[in-house]
Amino acid sequence: MAGLPTVLLLGGTTEAAAIADAVGARLGGRVDLIVSFAGRTTSPTTPFGRQRVGGFGGTDGLAHYLGQHEVSAVLDALHPFAAVMAFHASEACRTTGIPLVKVVRAGWTEQAGDRWARVATMADVPEALERLGATRVLLTIGRQELEPFRTMTGVHVIVRSIEPPDLSGGWDAVPLLDRGPFTVEGETRLLADEGIDALVTKDSGGAATAAKLTAARQLGIAVVIVDRPRTPTGAEVASVDAAMAWLEATLDAADQPAG
Ligand code: NAP
Repeated sequence: MAGLPTVLLLGGTTEAAAIADAVGARLGGRVDLIVSFAGRTTSPTTPFGRQRVGGFGGTDGLAHYLGQHEVSAVLDALHPFAAVMAFHASEACRTTGIPLVKVVRAGWTEQAGDRWARVATMADVPEALERLGATRVLLTIGRQELEPFRTMTGVHVIVRSIEPPDLSGGWDAVPLLDRGPFTVEGETRLLADEGIDALVTKDSGGAATAAKLTAARQLGIAVVIVDRPRTPTGAEVASVDAAMAWLEATLDAADQPAG
């Protein structure tokens, strides 16, 4: 939109949707918001802004995009496990000098009654499940990182994801297509009805998918939790309100005549 500062929001998360909503409510008419999705799910939507779907072509592609669209500020509201994109955004903004902030969602913390086994990577999960003696597993890690599980034997696995997963390989796996937010009642029913003895999750944090942890705690079910990957250092905020404050201050500063 001619004349308005362009803001790029890297999305695909609940926080990104909330930020887009807040931009519409508080800055609508004052900024041209572009919300970017990787295209992992079909028909992504944003409550406000123009959406674009698909990769930029690495760091250089993103830097080119930022220049071409005269982007004034970038908000990284990516999922905590979308580390590749976070590093690309950090590097592209560094080289172009465009202000960037990362919206960081707090991770989950263990509570009394939890039976958690933390592992560093997805590749460590099968061994952790073996140590636990798990026989019926609910996998809630999406559908992109299933490789380490395809050779597992003697374990029945329910793979919950938004889009249909590729369950090829020798393992005993069935799909469960569903998307959050989930309730404790619903998660408790699922875990109990399916006789699940271990749940696998990333340390995603946030409320939308936390109900499974409460349900597992109440049922005494073990949880294998994958630690977050390293993400770039830089400016960070922890809430939608703080992201909006950063954006308003950044746009105001860009408006000031150079001293
Ligand atoms: P990733 O591994 O960090 O990124 C891989 C590549 O996907 C990037 O190099 C980039 O391609 C492209 N990409 C990622 N996010 C993008 C975005 N918002 N807009 C445009 N291109 C993007 O990412 P991922 O973990 O697969 O996550 C992909 C998307 O799903 C992100 O938007 C993330 O917020 C969302 N998500 C991820 C998870 C998760 O567990 N990983 C969970 C929920 C939602 P190019 O190099 O070509 O630019």
